[in-house]
Amino acid sequence: MSSKDCIFCKIIKGEIKTDPIFENENIFAFRDIRPLAPVHILIIPKKHIASMNELGEKDKLVLGDMLFCAGEIAKNLGIAEKGYKLLIRTGLNGGQEVPHIHLHLIGGARLSEGIHPV
Ligand code: AMP
Ligand code: ZN
Repeated sequence: MSSKDCIFCKIIKGEIKTDPIFENENIFAFRDIRPLAPVHILIIPKKHIASMNELGEKDKLVLGDMLFCAGEIAKNLGIAEKGYKLLIRTGLNGGQEVPHIHLHLIGGARLSEGIHPV
């Protein structure tokens, strides 16, 4: 899929409305439309990167920014102390639906242990 048809690229351009949480030069964060927990945020790079499999060496800083901002957002939303999960699904086996890399920040309730998303 090209970035032209990508729903997360449309979200970044403002063509699809979301509930925004945070934005800087590299990344955009917004509430997931189908939350799996009381707090469910998606953190995405503004650059179209389809998945972990398409990451380049130069994308390392953006990935670091996504992780750092996830921690800051968790603190700002008051879920950091009790804890939360971060998840990047990749490809078919990973259950990735949207081919624009995204970090799920999931929390606000006691989540399951193990590999389940929630
Ligand atoms: P994944 O299954 O990891 O690819 O996650 C895709 C996520 O995007 C799902 O949790 C969806 O609920 C979420 N999603 C899809 N469309 C939208 C949208 N327009 N606004 C907010 N979240 C969305
Ligand atoms: Zn995209």
